[in-house]
Amino acid sequence: MDDKAWLERAVAAAAQNVLDGGGPFGALVVKGDELISVGVNRVTPTLDPTAHAEVVAIRDACQKLQTFKLDGCLLVASCEPCPLCLSAALWARMDRVIFAADRHDAAEAGFDDRAFYEVFTTPVEQWPVQVQHLGGPGATLPFQHWNDKADKVEY
Ligand SMILES: [Zn+2]
Repeated sequence: MDDKAWLERAVAAAAQNVLDGGGPFGALVVKGDELISVGVNRVTPTLDPTAHAEVVAIRDACQKLQTFKLDGCLLVASCEPCPLCLSAALWARMDRVIFAADRHDAAEAGFDDRAFYEVFTTPVEQWPVQVQHLGGPGATLPFQHWNDKADKVEY
């Protein structure tokens, strides 16, 4: 299957998911010519604000491949990944991301993807969530332990 065919499959999963009670988003993880996983948005049915299609697909792919790294994999999304999902692809070290609809299409349907991207271009004091760096004694202790740990699994 080529990119266009994978995208059509992700879009079909997204459309079906609306009929199944989820949000209008679908995603695939593909390795080579192999479909590893399909994820659909399950935020409201599972009461999980992080259950975005891409995150669901990435979690499932990692379980199936028994790894926390998806290098060599393609993330196929029915809509442009939001900052959460794009970060998930980064953390998973995926090779490539392709998407069909974009953040503006999502905004027209009432979703915050575009707004959340815009948050990162505004000063932190103006964000809708209050974020404070308070530091404090011992704040870096976990990193000292990590750096000293001989048998750590780096990711
Ligand atoms: Zn997302």
